[in-house]
Amino acid sequence: MAGRRAIGLMLAAGMTLGAALPASASFESCLARLRQDAVRAGVSEATVMAALGSVDYDEKAVRFSGSQPEYKTPIWDYLAFLVDAERISDGKKMMQKHAKTLALVEKTYGVDRYIVAAVWGVESDYGQFHGDFHVPHALANVACFGRRAKYFRSELIESLKIVDRGDVRLKDLKGSWAGAFGQTQFMPSTYRRLAVDFDGDKRRDLVNSVPDALASTANYLKKGGWTTGMPWGYEVSVPAGYHGPSGRKRRATVSDWGKRGIRHLDGGELTGAASAALLLPAGTKGPAFLVFKNFDVIYSYNVAESYALAISHLADRLRGGGAFNKAWPTNDPGLSRAQRLELQKLLLRAGYDIGEVDGRVGEATRDGIRKAEARHGLPQTGRPGRRVYEALGGR
Ligand code: CA
Repeated sequence: MAGRRAIGLMLAAGMTLGAALPASASFESCLARLRQDAVRAGVSEATVMAALGSVDYDEKAVRFSGSQPEYKTPIWDYLAFLVDAERISDGKKMMQKHAKTLALVEKTYGVDRYIVAAVWGVESDYGQFHGDFHVPHALANVACFGRRAKYFRSELIESLKIVDRGDVRLKDLKGSWAGAFGQTQFMPSTYRRLAVDFDGDKRRDLVNSVPDALASTANYLKKGGWTTGMPWGYEVSVPAGYHGPSGRKRRATVSDWGKRGIRHLDGGELTGAASAALLLPAGTKGPAFLVFKNFDVIYSYNVAESYALAISHLADRLRGGGAFNKAWPTNDPGLSRAQRLELQKLLLRAGYDIGEVDGRVGEATRDGIRKAEARHGLPQTGRPGRRVYEALGGR
C-alpha cells in the first residue's frame, strides 16, 4: 500500500488476539461522534449518513488492527509468493494490453513502466483484488476499537471526502481493514495528496480506471524522488568471507563497493560515482544486491525492504530478466500462490481442518501445517514451504 500499511495485505491473516464483542451502546455513541466529526470536517451529511448511518461491528477488522504479526515471513517465502510465474505472465499480458497507457505514463512522469506495472501487480494483482473490507465501515470499527484511533478517524474522514468529491462511489471503496483501497492500495490521505486523473474524465478513480491507477502510482514514485533513467539496482557477487558494511543506509560510491571486493555477477569490476548500498537480505550466503536511490523510492511505497525487492525483481522479470543468480540459503524454498492453494487442498485431503481453501496462509493453515510436519517427522515451522508440500504429495 502506499502511505502506511501496518502489515502487508497478504500477511495480515492469521493473528491471535481475540476481540470481545463490545457493548453496542458504546459503538453507537462512538459512531455518532464520528458522524459529527466528519460533518464538522466538511463532509456532506448525505455522504456521512450513507456511509456511517448504520455500521455493523466488524470483529475481523478489529482483530486485525489489534494483532501483532507473531510470525516473521522469510524473504524467500515472501518473494516466492509475490513474484511467481502467474504474476509474471499475467503482468506481461497486462502490460501488452495497456501498453499505450504505460508508455504515456512513463513519458509524463519519467518513471520506469516496468516498476509501475510491478507495483500494480503486487498491490492488487493488476486490478483483480482490492481487498475484502468496505473501507468506511472497517475504518469506523478500528477508529472506535483499535489502536491509533486518531489516525484511523482521520483516514475515515478522508475516505468520505473522496466520495463527496465524486472521485469514487461509496460502494466501490473496497480495501484492507486499515483503509488502503483500489488498484494502487492508496490510503485515503495518500489519495488526496497523490492520486491523479489520467483518463481525462475529471475524476481520480483508482478503483475503476487503469490509467488513473497507473499514473497515480507513477506520480507517487515521482514525488518520492524517482530519478529517471536510473535502475533500482542489480544483483552482485560478494566475495566469500565478506565482513564489510552492508544495509540500505550504508552508502558509498559504486567504485568504493568495487574496492571492497563486490563484483558484477560476471566478475566485471564495479565502477562509477553513483551512491549505492549493499543489500544482503539473507546474509552473505544468499543473493546480494547493489541498490540505488530509486530502490529507496520504491521502499517508501510500503516501508519494507522485502517489498521493495519484490517490486524490483518483478519489474525485472516483466522486462524479460531471469531468476536471481544465487539461490536463497535454504533447503526448504517458498511456494507460489498456486502451490499454496494446492498445499491447502492437500492438507484438507489429509484430514487437517484448515478452513477455507483461499490461498491465504492464516493461523488455521499454519496449525494444519505444523500438525502435518509433526506427522511426517519434519521440524514444526508452520511455514508453507516446499518440504511439507512434497511430504503431502505436492509436486
Ligand atoms: Ca479519471
